Amino acid sequence: MGIEKVIPKFADLDVFLKLLPRSGTGQSLTAYQSLITGVKKNANDIGPDELHIVMLDNGRSRMLAHPLTRQSLACIRCGACLNACPVYQQIGGHAYGSVYPGPIGAVITPQLFGLSKAKQLPYASSLCGACREVCPVKIDIPALLLHLRSEIAEGAETPMRKPGERFAFRMYSRMWSRSRTYTLSMQAARLMQRFVSRGGKIGKVGGFISRLVPPLGAWTEWRDAPVVAPKSFRDLWKEKKK
Ligand code: SF4
Repeated sequence: MGIEKVIPKFADLDVFLKLLPRSGTGQSLTAYQSLITGVKKNANDIGPDELHIVMLDNGRSRMLAHPLTRQSLACIRCGACLNACPVYQQIGGHAYGSVYPGPIGAVITPQLFGLSKAKQLPYASSLCGACREVCPVKIDIPALLLHLRSEIAEGAETPMRKPGERFAFRMYSRMWSRSRTYTLSMQAARLMQRFVSRGGKIGKVGGFISRLVPPLGAWTEWRDAPVVAPKSFRDLWKEKKK
């Protein structure tokens, strides 16, 4: 187990037994719990003669030493942030190659395995703050993501080094920073998606986009992308106001 799993007293376990299932699945209690209480006291008792607990540090002391990152260790792995996150709701849990999924995974994976091995993860977030709102132990995940991004930038390990990617994201930023060009791009997307969508999906269901357009094909290799909604929220708002 990781060293952060230690709690001060047996009585403190009560809080966590309630917090975890209620935040994770909405149950009052988990379906089962195992309590390992130690070695047997007398030779005739049933139980183990020896009990070995292996505690791993693996970068956790480093996280503990920093005033901001130490809060990452308070995570009880309930998964509430994963369920609330608009990114991970679409792509599923273990989509980015880490055993720690979701927003908290994007925070602790780079810290445990090293920024160079997971430098894309802190960028897989819109920083909307939904994870922070639902977290039962109040971890400020967006602040941690920004902190990790700044560490990556300071180390000049920017994750988008390919010229094509840099150009694409610059264009994306310019177009979507202005209302008019954003609206135009969405109208164009609605028109174009007619040729590559089937049944409200773009990807394997649509069939041929994965083979025809390689960069987009990689995005839809494992999961179909939903199509752009026929009407934007602003259009619907205007209609309702009338
Ligand atoms: S960060 Fe918070 S919400 Fe996410 S798994 Fe950990 S305790 Fe649960």
